[in-house]
Amino acid sequence: MSTHLLVHAFNFRQRDLGSMCRRYREFAAGWNGGYSHGVPRRNMLFTETIQKKRDGVELTDAELEMAIQLFTRDEIPDYQMSAFLMAVFFRGMSRREMGSWTKAMLHSGTILDWSHLGKRCVDKHSTGGVGDKISIPLAPAVATCGVPVPMISGRGLGHTGGTLDKLEAIPGFKVRIESALARRCMEEIGVAMMGQTEEIAPADRRLYALRDATSTVESIPLIASSIMSKKLAEGIGGLVLDVKVGSGAFMKTLEDATRLAETLVYIGEYSGCRTVARLTRMDRPLGKMIGNALEVEESIEVLRGGGPADVRALVVALGGEMLHLGGVASTVKTGEQCIREVLDDGSALQTFRRMVELQGGNPAAVDTPKQSLPQAQEIRTVTAKEAGHIRAVDTKEMGVASLLLGAGRVQKTDRIDPAVGIEMLCEVGDVVAPGTPICRLHFNDRSRADKAEERVVQAIDVGQPGAETALFLGRITGGGHNGD
Ligand code: URA
Repeated sequence: MSTHLLVHAFNFRQRDLGSMCRRYREFAAGWNGGYSHGVPRRNMLFTETIQKKRDGVELTDAELEMAIQLFTRDEIPDYQMSAFLMAVFFRGMSRREMGSWTKAMLHSGTILDWSHLGKRCVDKHSTGGVGDKISIPLAPAVATCGVPVPMISGRGLGHTGGTLDKLEAIPGFKVRIESALARRCMEEIGVAMMGQTEEIAPADRRLYALRDATSTVESIPLIASSIMSKKLAEGIGGLVLDVKVGSGAFMKTLEDATRLAETLVYIGEYSGCRTVARLTRMDRPLGKMIGNALEVEESIEVLRGGGPADVRALVVALGGEMLHLGGVASTVKTGEQCIREVLDDGSALQTFRRMVELQGGNPAAVDTPKQSLPQAQEIRTVTAKEAGHIRAVDTKEMGVASLLLGAGRVQKTDRIDPAVGIEMLCEVGDVVAPGTPICRLHFNDRSRADKAEERVVQAIDVGQPGAETALFLGRITGGGHNGD
């Protein structure tokens, strides 16, 4: 860069920063409260806020609110917000700070309003795993029992799958829907499953991109505020969190998962949303299918009253919690019973079928999934190489194997192949001998299948029997922990 350009760039930055500082001061001076803890000082600078966080001083609600508002309006530059995020990464946030930061992120965009339905809306959020298709049978089952579910879901992240990618395996199904259609779905059947719009928590989208580029993603206050700002924007009055623990989850230990769950529950309750978290195992894939169309097919089995025991058990347990939070079941147990009934009598399946139809999908995919969902051209059986018990499954590796087959994105721009994936033929604890089938790869590209096979063979640990992990590992409510 020439000297002239450097000077120009420097002057520009000085001017830019000068005007931003002025606006931060003006904002602070004009702050009209709204939070009980916020005592704004005149002439406040964002650099002072960074310094305070860097030095471990607790920030006021006003400072946090201002930071989010001005950042969303492009009045705090990325380099200052990056420094702030790194300070949060090392110093953390108090509970009050997290509540207030989340509230500011939530109010950076639109909050959906379902008050005309006259019912409390409830949703579920999972922290992500491999084979986690729970939302697909859960949302229609809960809606069938009388609690509306305006579910906004995400795409696959890293080795984990995303509900939107799975739903898009249904020919024609649209996850980007107009608000009028979402409203129609909610009014007619009490459920819509859709993607995030530009208007929902825009501060989170900008912060997430910065965190991704500055190694500040793995911070519990930042993860929790990011998740909760988006969920609370759905306009819900109750939220059930499925916090995954184990080799396929972002939280590998029960201790970390518990800390995250407590934080999420605190933020939910702070924001006036009744929130419960269940800690559940992710030390093996959930159900038998990993991959988009395969997982839709398995979800339909659950909606027909069958499906793998762990998937059904989670749908029943999380659904029971949602019905209790939604006020239609006096206890979680009675809520669970209602969910079992709508799975077994086919009424949840009918709600799902209608949702597919309303959102542009072909309902034949629900009636005859094997004929109407995308199918891979080839299937290869992978067998055990040695004798012993299946001791553990490196679940993250299984997720990566499915990604390598084309079920997820290695790069942001990659196209997903909805037909490919992995079908598990064994479970932790099973006894195998050399040649015993352990899984099937569904694929459309042999070189991808070769790479995935290597990962799968490495991921399945055969040896002496190990200790079994329970599916449900804990339950956290606003009042604290209680047993599972
Ligand atoms: N999911 C989110 O929405 N945000 C995070 O920060 C991490 C996971």
